[in-house]
Amino acid sequence: MQKLYKSTRGSRVRLNLCEAILKGLADDGGLFVPDFPLTHYEFEQLNQLSVLPYHELAAKIIGEFGDDDMREGIADACLKAYKTQSHFPEEVVPIRQVGDIHVAELFHGATCAFKDIALSLLPHLMTFSLRYTREEREVMILTATSGDTGKAALEGFSDVPGTRITVFYPDQGVSAVQKQQMVTTTGNNVDVVAIRGNFDDAQRAVKEAFADQSLQQAADASGVFLSSANSINIGRLLPQIVYYFYSYFNIVRAGGLNLGDEVNFCIPSGNFGNCLAGVIARSMGLPVHRFIVASNTNNVLTDFFQNGTYDARREFHTTIAPAMDILVSSNVERLLSMYGDTNATAERMKQLADEGHYSISAAEQEVFASLFFAGFQSRRQIDECIEQGFCKDHYVLDPHTAVGYGVLKDYQRTSGDTTSSILLSTASPFKFALDVLASISTLNVEEKDAILLLHRKTNAEVPAPLADIFERPVLHSTVIERNEIIPYIKEKI
Ligand SMILES: *Cc1c(COP(=O)(O)O)cnc(C)c1O
Repeated sequence: MQKLYKSTRGSRVRLNLCEAILKGLADDGGLFVPDFPLTHYEFEQLNQLSVLPYHELAAKIIGEFGDDDMREGIADACLKAYKTQSHFPEEVVPIRQVGDIHVAELFHGATCAFKDIALSLLPHLMTFSLRYTREEREVMILTATSGDTGKAALEGFSDVPGTRITVFYPDQGVSAVQKQQMVTTTGNNVDVVAIRGNFDDAQRAVKEAFADQSLQQAADASGVFLSSANSINIGRLLPQIVYYFYSYFNIVRAGGLNLGDEVNFCIPSGNFGNCLAGVIARSMGLPVHRFIVASNTNNVLTDFFQNGTYDARREFHTTIAPAMDILVSSNVERLLSMYGDTNATAERMKQLADEGHYSISAAEQEVFASLFFAGFQSRRQIDECIEQGFCKDHYVLDPHTAVGYGVLKDYQRTSGDTTSSILLSTASPFKFALDVLASISTLNVEEKDAILLLHRKTNAEVPAPLADIFERPVLHSTVIERNEIIPYIKEKI
């Protein structure tokens, strides 16, 4: 049976995995989802998978989502991303015991945030997909970033043959650490450009570039294929399924669980891609009781799971967990299409775009209520969680992980559920050193000095990619106006 992907919005087009990865978004505006029954692992298979090293487990699991003749190419991509050309430690996702919680640290990649896991693999999946579909053009990735995704994409694509990447960031609106991380990126195929303005300006410029016919023609003429490393790409979702299995197996191997025991996962959420990958892992046989969906004060998901209405008509809050400052969580669309009333998805997304809200049925609400618990944390609560984690559990939480920690504790207290819990830690605290330091000390410091001072205060080790960040040479200093983006790209291709 061929494994084909369909759009969440109901168009009749079906693509194979490689085609879907190269295409990114479906023509009807929907996201690609499997149009085939997911593989379900039974106990004996889980037992066999539980001893595999990360890259082999990734090859096996992601391989289930492609056709049989793709398995070898997928395995080769996983080997490169997680073993031979890897920035990750041997374990890829280490587990720490923090009080009674298992913390799965997803932040040991090149940029110290969880997006590294998917963005290290995506470039290799893309080059394989080019080969598989006999596409002879080179991929050129264009991405606007508000900070974290851009750097993770740069590191993922850096020096990957057959690919090039240009990241556009707003000159107003990324932190000093984020900017320094981007402008010091090495690699022969990477380019980083500041656009005068804020994130919206940068995002709009890149959208205009993708829509520009003359740029498309120039790209075609030079044998270049324009694409994005957007978080809605199916090639970013599949790699995230792997660490749910891996974390679970890791704890089993360490004696913290028996194979087959149920666990809860707590996920600091924004676009909901991370959590959705877990839901898919559960459908494939991972014994998960509940997903605990944690938000900051941009708590659209909390309300959605509590009362069945997705309502984006609310004030946008800028928080100290900025990667979760999102009002339209794009992967909820996949959740509705895969686990809710499939045929209603297109209409709901239209209503969301036109009116800013939609509601699900009582039956769907009931299904989701058994699977998800959702909660949120205020600014003050995030600070308290960081402080409690440090003083009581001797663990330094970044603000995003702290949101998860707080919501998980609330859940344990109010539900009485004693199922073992795994908290996904999505960033290194050193990436957000200034805010973390402010939560656990009264020091008043510059962002530049915060990394070292956080190390002195906590004794936690500074991750290598951040250790000498302000001493590295600046390699990219171009600044352009928004309306200069198209001529700029044309010159590069
Ligand atoms: C992107 C990100 C998140 C949110 O993940 P989603 O998959 O968008 O829900 C949480 N924490 C950090 C640090 C991130 O970078």
